[in-house]
Amino acid sequence: MRPRFSDLAISPRSPLGVELTRRRFLQASLTAAAGLGTGLGLGCDLSIPEYPFTLGVASGDPLSDRVILWTRLAPDPLNGGGMPDTPVTVIWEIADDEAMSQGLRSGVAVAHPSLGHSVHVDVPGLLPERWYHYRFHVPGWTSPVGRTKTAAAVGSNNQRLRFATASCQSYTSGFYTAYHHMAQEDLDLVVHLGDYIYEGGVGSGVRPHNSGTVFTLPEYRNRYALYKTDPNLMEAHRIFPFVTTWDDHEVRNNYAGLVATEPPITQDFIDRRAAAYAAYYEHLPLRVLPPKGPDLEIFRRLDFGDLLSMFVLDTRQYRTNQDCNDNIGQLCAGFPNPDGTMLGDVQEAWLFDGLDAGGGLWNTLAQSVWFTPVLGPNFDQWDGYPLARDRILDFVESRGVENLVVLTGDIHASGAASIVRDFNAEKFFGAEFVAPGISSVNGSPDLINGAFGFFSYVEYVNGRSQGYVRHDVGRTEWRADLRRVLTVRTPGADIETEASFVADVGVPGIRPA
Ligand code: FE
Ligand code: CA
Repeated sequence: MRPRFSDLAISPRSPLGVELTRRRFLQASLTAAAGLGTGLGLGCDLSIPEYPFTLGVASGDPLSDRVILWTRLAPDPLNGGGMPDTPVTVIWEIADDEAMSQGLRSGVAVAHPSLGHSVHVDVPGLLPERWYHYRFHVPGWTSPVGRTKTAAAVGSNNQRLRFATASCQSYTSGFYTAYHHMAQEDLDLVVHLGDYIYEGGVGSGVRPHNSGTVFTLPEYRNRYALYKTDPNLMEAHRIFPFVTTWDDHEVRNNYAGLVATEPPITQDFIDRRAAAYAAYYEHLPLRVLPPKGPDLEIFRRLDFGDLLSMFVLDTRQYRTNQDCNDNIGQLCAGFPNPDGTMLGDVQEAWLFDGLDAGGGLWNTLAQSVWFTPVLGPNFDQWDGYPLARDRILDFVESRGVENLVVLTGDIHASGAASIVRDFNAEKFFGAEFVAPGISSVNGSPDLINGAFGFFSYVEYVNGRSQGYVRHDVGRTEWRADLRRVLTVRTPGADIETEASFVADVGVPGIRPA
């Protein structure tokens, strides 16, 4: 279908009070269409009867000259989205100011039904380390104005990066009060380390899921929509760029590669992973190619000037099955699997090449599961893949990789540790900062506190915390403040800093701040 901009029915005032004249919409769309040329498969300019930006706006994966802008058209978000089965043209705008008047640029994107009417716009030509504002239009409707920030340029000798790490936001377990407080922080970005959704049933927590356990693409979409319509999460996405990786619950609990629980691999689970990965792609501001069947490559590197190189890791898609039937603490014959891998060969080689190439003062691994050795073992964590962990530590040691910081989620506990090879703790390799759940609650906090806190190199662990970690990264030290909301069972709780730790440049490990 050809775009017919002259036929657009445009309301002069969006539901959010943003003025948009018909003339301006036409100018923006025509300019953008002309700039992008032909053959892009532009969508229909049909009118959408209900407000379609119910899932908000988001941005992510900032580079020094570009950033991904995201939205998904979903006038009926909890029931499949409510869009007709046809591509729709979306106009994006980016500007220097919140009023969208200075330095305004625009373009068109197409929201395809095959991607749930999501759009991922990679806006080029931006200036480094700078805030921008953006929004989207479709005929008759305008999105809220989002805010985003580009990364510093490599070689710019940038001095500071502030961000939060988040993980584990079970909707049924608690309210997203942590995001309300995060939105008050002075941050450059948010890094989400997985368990963005949970796949389980209605539950018996503080607020219900919107269905039973999810398996199909429409079911996963509706589940993401439930999470993303939470106003606190939506606001965090609106005002900060996000960098995300996944853990297990974006698909199912403790899956490994194509194995749901134990072998054999089934077609049912391959199909389920494909549905889950598709929904993940559709709902997050990722700088990656769309999924191909059950595969979605999300490991990637982001550089924040020459201060910090962030290796965003995927610890789920390529890992070998957990040893010992994944029974925590039940060591079995054959452990560890000599072929055990957490990252897979390709990602591991990519990581080593990247660490070798260097770039940032700080080398950061943004990943999901607890890294430094603790009692257990919990076969789902790096303790279940000790040979794979040794390969990383061997590489760090032999190649002189400095200022290693591992960012972790998953465990529903806050924590801070120096990274060691084994319980002898003869040497520190780096720092590990562990984000508690935004809302997920730990079922065995005393067990975690005892088994993880037993070692002196684990400076802090609290299985009763929900919140996030606030990171303030400079050129001499990296400070991590563990931020804890007082309860997630009722909305509106206060937040406190429960502990603070520092990693010093050139000194592996951490110390209390
Ligand atoms: Fe979790
Ligand atoms: Ca998990």
